[in-house]
Amino acid sequence: MSTYDYLIVGSGLFGAVFAHEAFKRGKKCLVLEKREHVGGNVYCEEIEGILVHRYGAHIFHTSNAKIWEYVSQFCEMNRFTNMPVANFKGEIYNMPFNMNTFSKLWGVVTPQQAKAKIEEQRGVSQEEPRNLEEQAIRLVGEDIYHKLIQGYTEKQWGKPCSELPAFIIKRLPVRYTYDNNYFNDRFQGIPIGGYNVLIDGLLKDIPVKCGVDYLAEREIYRPMADKVVYTGQLDAYFDYAYGPLEYRSLRFETECLDMENYQGVAVMNYTDRETPYTRIIEHKHFDFGTQEKTVITREYPVKWEKGMEAYYPVNDDANQKIFTQYQKLAEKEKGVLFGGRLASYKYYDMDKVIEAALEAVSKEFEGE
Ligand code: FAD
Ligand code: UDP
Repeated sequence: MSTYDYLIVGSGLFGAVFAHEAFKRGKKCLVLEKREHVGGNVYCEEIEGILVHRYGAHIFHTSNAKIWEYVSQFCEMNRFTNMPVANFKGEIYNMPFNMNTFSKLWGVVTPQQAKAKIEEQRGVSQEEPRNLEEQAIRLVGEDIYHKLIQGYTEKQWGKPCSELPAFIIKRLPVRYTYDNNYFNDRFQGIPIGGYNVLIDGLLKDIPVKCGVDYLAEREIYRPMADKVVYTGQLDAYFDYAYGPLEYRSLRFETECLDMENYQGVAVMNYTDRETPYTRIIEHKHFDFGTQEKTVITREYPVKWEKGMEAYYPVNDDANQKIFTQYQKLAEKEKGVLFGGRLASYKYYDMDKVIEAALEAVSKEFEGE
């Protein structure tokens, strides 16, 4: 007889939602987390009374009312709306691409004038864009591509835009209205008190062991439970049998400054190629802080190597092929459910991870 029904590897949103739902159904769960804290990449820490998003800016947004209601059981959301600003060599532009951006760039005033300008620059090809560069120019033309996309993207992904998949840039809205909201989703905000409130609510009364790398201690932990929910890297789980998948990592440089307001906005993107970081986050603006000091984080993209945190999957064709091979191994692995952004090798937003965890729960407990 095992001690637990479920061993949940990883205390990020996928693991925490699964654990919560299993526990609610009377299952005995143990959560293992290799970091020294729970929450995965949404974890926040407090510095000078300011909630700092330790693993990069996290803004919750969704169009799914059920997911919004689901998280609202555990935390109250504030009214934060992401309106980042792009800094290209000291020139400031509103993001995402909208009438404010077009007006500042070209002096245009009406949507018709903006469309005409983009039309002039986007080329005439009818073929499907084959890569991010072609997709970006098709969407917004050459000027915006060169000032606001190319430098940022090549720093972020460490590759020329002509070698990156087109879908990455489709994440960003292009609008012919004066609307600086980065997202199109109906619901948006940041938990009051930070994401730890959400994670602590999900994991309430569930035993968690931090500082345990399941893969290093599989022999000890695997026999303890009937089933495992694994939310770490899929390639690592199979000991890189087909070689490592490609990821991007990040280095965060956080600084506390003796001033009230450093940049006047939560997120400023540095879109030129020369500045080594992609953005500066000023955390207090996520919850309208009025503290005397401020905390900022510079985000430097880094090539991922084994042992580093894998923040972004590189979903190009070559990596997708390798991932499919790992997926076949995963299908054969008895008693293990794989989920979350690392095990699924997907560029998932938080709402999509919660959705996926709830789907896994429905499947797992169907008929119960
Ligand atoms: P994770 O949060 O990565 O959790 C996995 C956990 O498993 C980690 O805690 C890890 O330490 C642990 N783990 C891994 N392997 C092992 C092991 N062998 N043993 C024990 N534990 C292990 N989404 C949004 O919706 N809005 C945003 O604004 C946004 N901004 C982002 C900014 C950045 C810089 C990044 C990287 C992501 C952002 N996301 C955002 C995405 C968001 O972080 C993810 O969707 C979400 O956190 C994924 O949850 P998860 O549980 O799948 O993975
Ligand atoms: N992007 C860009 N310029 C910007 C912001 C984003 O070119 O100022 C591109 C870049 O390729 C990035 C993609 O748009 O990878 C998606 O951006 P998003 O902000 O959704 O990515 P995240 O930072 O959430 O990973």
